[in-house]
Amino acid sequence: MCGIVGYIGSSSAKPVLLNALSTLEYRGYDSCGIAVKNGSIAIHKDTVRVEVMQLTSPALDGTVGIGHTRWATHGKPNTINSHPHLSGDVAVVHNGIIENYLELKEKLIGDGYTFKSETDTEVIAHLLHSHLYGGIDGVFKLCDLMVAVQRTLLSLEGSYAIAALCSSDPGLRVVARKDSPLVIGVGNDEIFAASDVTAFLQHTKDVVFVDDNPSLNGLNIAGLTVISPAEIEKTIARKRIERVILAIPSLSEPRRTALLERLTHLNCEFQTLPSFLDILDGKGLASNLKTVSANELLGRDAVELDLPVEKET
Ligand code: GLU
Repeated sequence: MCGIVGYIGSSSAKPVLLNALSTLEYRGYDSCGIAVKNGSIAIHKDTVRVEVMQLTSPALDGTVGIGHTRWATHGKPNTINSHPHLSGDVAVVHNGIIENYLELKEKLIGDGYTFKSETDTEVIAHLLHSHLYGGIDGVFKLCDLMVAVQRTLLSLEGSYAIAALCSSDPGLRVVARKDSPLVIGVGNDEIFAASDVTAFLQHTKDVVFVDDNPSLNGLNIAGLTVISPAEIEKTIARKRIERVILAIPSLSEPRRTALLERLTHLNCEFQTLPSFLDILDGKGLASNLKTVSANELLGRDAVELDLPVEKET
């Protein structure tokens, strides 16, 4: 067990985060760290107690931040392995275990990403970056952080509560709660996220439990976006789809490129058929098969497609 915290408000984030982390100490930890956003993201992390960090950390200005107490599961308890982890302008803290991190790490290394830590968590940071920028050399943002988080979830197996920050994105995004706890605290002009309510009870008693309530999904509370466990379950179900028939009429550029870009975010095999299948758009040819037209796919975000589960894993 460890703890994660997040803060958006008008107060200086650093003392709020470190205070919140100190209330989570009972959960056990071997190192701690914070990231504060003020234009760019500044990180301070170490293998010290929170009260030591409160005395020794450098000034970090900014009113948005995330924090973490780590209980190492992958990699030694040392400063490099402690959270937050960074990839470009993205910082992430994670509570839990990513079971398929080795296979994801191999793929990301093949794509040019360099790993600094031995943790499973660092794959999340690089996956977020690669969805945001289209790869290690990407310069322009292809989507916002919420979409990057949703797409990253498609690849993750295991347990997680995640808080992520991107310096070029105005908000803090939280993904929760696949077998790791996360609660939201709503103050007057500030918003908290934490593994446990004790982290923010001194600021607010208005608590939103990030449970299986689908209406939480995409909810933006003063800059903090919640992706609900119900949405995560849907995402996982989508991942199990093995085969979708896609009816592609003759497509001209740039629609073809846009379509291919969207397809890469769905983990299933596509078979293309002539456009006459467009008339079957959205109707199953068989109970376990769905046709999706290019028009439909281009008109919506691919990760939003409500495709049926073809095969239980
Ligand atoms: N698995 C992650 C790590 O080893 C997070 C551990 C935790 O939940 O503190 O860094």
